[in-house]
Amino acid sequence: MKLSRYYAPTLKEDPADAEVVSHKLMLRAGMIRKLTSGIYTFLPLGLRSLNKAARIVREEMDRAGALEILMPGVQPADLWQETGRWEYYGKELLRFKDRHDRAYCLGPTHEEVVTDLIRHEVRSYRQLPLNLYQVQTKFRDEIRPRFGLMRGREFVMKDAYSFDKDEEGALVSYKAMYDAYCRIFSRLGLRFRAVEADTGAIGGNYSHEFMVLADTGEDTIAACPSCEYGANLEKAEAMLPVKTKPGNCPEHKLVATPGAHTVEEVAAFLKVEPARIVKTLLYVADGKPVAALVRGDRELNEVKLKNALNAQDVALATPEQVQAWTKAPVGFAGPVGLNADVVKTILADRELSQDTDWITGANKADAHFLHVDLDDDVLLTNYADLRNVACGDPCPRCGAPLELTKGIEVGHVFKLGYKYSEAMKASVLDEQGKDRLVYMGCYGIGVSRVVAACIEQNHDGAGIKFPPALAPFEVAVVCLDVKGEPLAKAEAIYAWLTGQGVEAVLDDRDERPGVKFKDIDLMGFPFQIVLGGKGLARGIVEVKDRRTGEKSELPVEGFEAAFT
Ligand code: ATP
Ligand code: MG
Ligand code: MG
Ligand code: MG
Repeated sequence: MKLSRYYAPTLKEDPADAEVVSHKLMLRAGMIRKLTSGIYTFLPLGLRSLNKAARIVREEMDRAGALEILMPGVQPADLWQETGRWEYYGKELLRFKDRHDRAYCLGPTHEEVVTDLIRHEVRSYRQLPLNLYQVQTKFRDEIRPRFGLMRGREFVMKDAYSFDKDEEGALVSYKAMYDAYCRIFSRLGLRFRAVEADTGAIGGNYSHEFMVLADTGEDTIAACPSCEYGANLEKAEAMLPVKTKPGNCPEHKLVATPGAHTVEEVAAFLKVEPARIVKTLLYVADGKPVAALVRGDRELNEVKLKNALNAQDVALATPEQVQAWTKAPVGFAGPVGLNADVVKTILADRELSQDTDWITGANKADAHFLHVDLDDDVLLTNYADLRNVACGDPCPRCGAPLELTKGIEVGHVFKLGYKYSEAMKASVLDEQGKDRLVYMGCYGIGVSRVVAACIEQNHDGAGIKFPPALAPFEVAVVCLDVKGEPLAKAEAIYAWLTGQGVEAVLDDRDERPGVKFKDIDLMGFPFQIVLGGKGLARGIVEVKDRRTGEKSELPVEGFEAAFT
């Protein structure tokens, strides 16, 4: 590709409405242009990166046995009414009517469409397992579209859906996708972490998010610094907060404090007005209470989590101790994996009332907190034991305290269970000839977001520093003098590289060297081969590694042999 004939309109200045670096650089490097809020056109360079990301995704999905299809962007309302999501999904779902007054939406995701396909087509368990995927344009009417491709309204997603005859099979499908995602994000050259996640609007009961680690990420994750384990903030919060029963104020939050237990002490520790502390409650860090119930907000969530993560060396307290400290409804914290019998033994003579609640475990057997009812509506979590709660598969827990860091969600895998197959009656005949609902999973990757996330991780003051996997071109041949002998040489090198299968671009524009260096650095091609009159007079071309900044010289004669 010759830049003189290419369309990559670079900008010298940062565009005013771009807040994060990837957005700025993609606009400045001429990769994308905004059409309207959250909706972008991919220009040639941007499209090349997008396609490279999509190609790696496709290769690994194929390798994992998934089959590519392409579903429509426009979806009929009645499918969404069947699952209840027409109401539930809210304003992110863009709805409209056709000339016959029939309602539709622009697909933000495709569970309904793919389940509809399966219920009509797949009749026997013998046709399972099946995993169908697509790379397709989604529309979500995001409340705050921003950061360019990171949070668009129209964006490219890879979404896959697995169908199994039972949960056992679904776990195999889930694992295959989890592993494929690890391969994809590694091949894309991203520093990422898979974290445990809540299932949110999609539902189901098992979920991991793949987070690219970057300060500009909108998500907070709790990550273990010494092992692979991580959880997203919602998941961590699900283990942490006070949950109130219907009719009570949902904004009450539980905050862990290191041993402070009067209202004043807690307020001072949290740097909030004492009036915001609803009450101080419980319990259990080496005989000291560690929590307060606070009228919560977003900012306090962060404080809360940090504190919880700092609260270490938790020991069990007896109900008597807790009662003595708090003079409040007794919450009882037990470590992970505590089952009902153990709790009963510890609580000895205490009656577990009907209002006893167990939370953050699928069942009582692995609940790790129990609220013994006295009079209150409050469920308490053993957040102080979060680091233990938090550690799960696939690496055994290491026990190190988790750290909070920012992340960009680039992928998400869910085990959906029967949510959609039940609502839409998607079943197959099993070995005994009986109807059985299919067990589903779904797996998304934000393909366009991946490109932005990569830039968030790979840039400097001069521009993008693409890893080869996502670079629009791997090598830029920069000719500093397009009128004389260097051009012929540059063209020869460019032709040779292209012949070798290297994705090369030739900067043959009639521009000053300063302009070329700036543009080429900005666009972020991993390698630059620079040909100028002076160098050629010495018989050399200069090679620059954009990512390390390292420069070296190669001979013009025998360049082919010397270039690796
Ligand atoms: P987010 O939490 O960022 O809103 P999500 O959890 O709503 O994302 P999913 O429903 O899990 O998104 O969709 C799968 C993937 O699609 C996400 O992991 C993300 O990479 C991508 N994605 C979601 N929303 C957007 C968006 N508005 N712009 C770009 N990519 C997106
Ligand atoms: Mg979302
Ligand atoms: Mg999310
Ligand atoms: Mg998600």
